[in-house]
Amino acid sequence: MSVLAFELAATVRHDGQGGVADGLATVEGTREWIRANGPLVEGVLGRSFDSTLITVDGGVQERLAGVRRAVRSLFARVVSPAPPSKADASRLLAPAEALRLLNEAADGLGTAQLDWPEEGEPVTRWSAGSSGPLELLVGAVGRSGIDFLTGPDRHRLRACPAARCVKYFLQDDPRQTWCSPSCGNRERVNRHYQRKHAG
Ligand SMILES: [Zn+2]
Repeated sequence: MSVLAFELAATVRHDGQGGVADGLATVEGTREWIRANGPLVEGVLGRSFDSTLITVDGGVQERLAGVRRAVRSLFARVVSPAPPSKADASRLLAPAEALRLLNEAADGLGTAQLDWPEEGEPVTRWSAGSSGPLELLVGAVGRSGIDFLTGPDRHRLRACPAARCVKYFLQDDPRQTWCSPSCGNRERVNRHYQRKHAG
């Protein structure tokens, strides 16, 4: 299961060389992320969404990065007292500020309303359905963040403790420590090396 807010948080990633890569650092990267996640936006909106209507510029990058910071700050709160992702541990927002920003983003969708076509299933419609595409995108991210953080999957959220990893991931079973087998293998090698050289 993919969650839109989670996918946005995951644009901060390890660059494979000990640093952090930011998928929203460029206009191209941001455009690519928006295009790739159109289906998840549609899932939140409950109707079709044309991501090509968004003209991606520095303002759009900044907007998404702001919501991402709120989401990642709240993720850090979820995994606490375990340490948060190392990527932004020193730049986390205060909880009240993160909540305000996420709620403000979700406001872009307006209020949830029930629609029930004569021939069909009841569905949620958003009162701000005629907003601009950027508002709808940001609103969908905000809404998915609220749904995730109030839903059962919150309890499976972890920050990978591998030395250079910056990922948040959903634990598949209670014994899973690392985000991926490659992080686990790298850590085992590191520990073996440290033991060998410690004495
Ligand atoms: Zn990892």
